[in-house]
Amino acid sequence: MKIGFVGLGNMGGPMAANLAAAGHAVVGFDPVATGPDGVDRAASAAEAAQGAEVVITMLPDGAILRRVAREVIPAMTAGAVLCDCSTVDVESARAVAAQAAHGGVAALDAPVSGGVAGAVAGTLTFMVGGDADAVAIVNPLLAVMGRNAVHCGGPGAGQAAKICNNMILGATMIVTCEAFALADRLGLDRAKMFDVVSTSSGYSWSMNAYCPAPGVGPKSPADNDYRPGFAADLMLKDLRLSQQAAAAVDADTPLGLAAMQLYERFVEQEDGRGRDFSAMLPRFERRGRG
Ligand code: NAD
Repeated sequence: MKIGFVGLGNMGGPMAANLAAAGHAVVGFDPVATGPDGVDRAASAAEAAQGAEVVITMLPDGAILRRVAREVIPAMTAGAVLCDCSTVDVESARAVAAQAAHGGVAALDAPVSGGVAGAVAGTLTFMVGGDADAVAIVNPLLAVMGRNAVHCGGPGAGQAAKICNNMILGATMIVTCEAFALADRLGLDRAKMFDVVSTSSGYSWSMNAYCPAPGVGPKSPADNDYRPGFAADLMLKDLRLSQQAAAAVDADTPLGLAAMQLYERFVEQEDGRGRDFSAMLPRFERRGRG
C-alpha cells in the first residue's frame, strides 16, 4: 500500500520502519526526527499525504493532531483513511473524525499499548474507533505494526478504551507500590509477597508482569534502575486525559483523580520525571504517613 506517515519519533519511527520492511511504500514527515531506513522523506505533512491510501499520524497531543489534520485532510485522495495512533483527548479524536468526513476521507483513532519496545518489535495492541469499512482497509497495516487490534466502536472509542485502561494501570501500579512499602515495614519478604499476591486475588499486570520491586518477579524496569519502560511523565499525560474525559461526561473517578494528583507531584515536584512509572515504589519506601 501507499502510506503517508506523519510523526517519526520514538514510536512513529519504528512503526514506519516495520511498514517499509513489510514491503509498503512509506513516505514520512517529521519536522525534527530523522526518518528510519526504508522510509522516503517528504517536505511537509501534506506532501506525505498526497496519493496515499492510508495516512498514519503518531504525534504528541491533540492540539498538534488537529493542526496536522487541517493540513493533511485537504491533500488526501477521496476515500483514503487517516489513522491516528497518538494518544489524544477523546474530543480531538472526534473533531478530526468529523473534519475528515467533511473532507471526504475516513478517520480512525487507533492509540496503542506496548511502548517503544512494542513499536520496534511490531507487537503493539491497537484500540480502534471509527467506521468498520475504514478499519478493514487499515487492518493489514495494524497487523504489521502490532499483534492485536480491537475495534472498540465509533469515533473516539479507541481513545476512550486507552485512557480507561491506563487509569486502571496507574491506580494499580500505585497501590502495588504502596503495598510493597507497607510489607517492608511489616517485615514481610518482598519475594514472598510476590509469590502470594501474584497467585492470589491481589494480582494484576502491575504485579505479575511489571513488578515494581527490583529482583522480584519477571525482569522489569525496576531491575534497570527504573529507567523507562513507560515513563511516569507519559502516565501523567494519560491520567490527565482520563480526568479531562471524566469531567466532560460528569463521571465520578476518585481513584483516577488521586492517581493523577500523585503522578503530578511525583513528576513535577519530586524526582519522577524521566523515570519509569513503577519508580513509585522507592518513593513510598522513603516516606512515612505524614
Ligand atoms: P515523540 O515525541 O518521540 O514523537 C512525536 C513526534 O512528532 C516527534 O518526532 C515530533 O517532532 C513530531 N511532531 C511534532 N509536531 C509535528 C508536526 N506538526 N508534524 C509532524 N510531526 C510532528 O513521542 P512518542 O513517544 O513517539 O509518542 C507519540 C504518541 O504515542 C504520543 O501521543 C504518546 O502519548 C503515544 N504513546 C507513546 C508511548 C511510549 O512509550 N513512548 C506508548 C504509548 C503511546
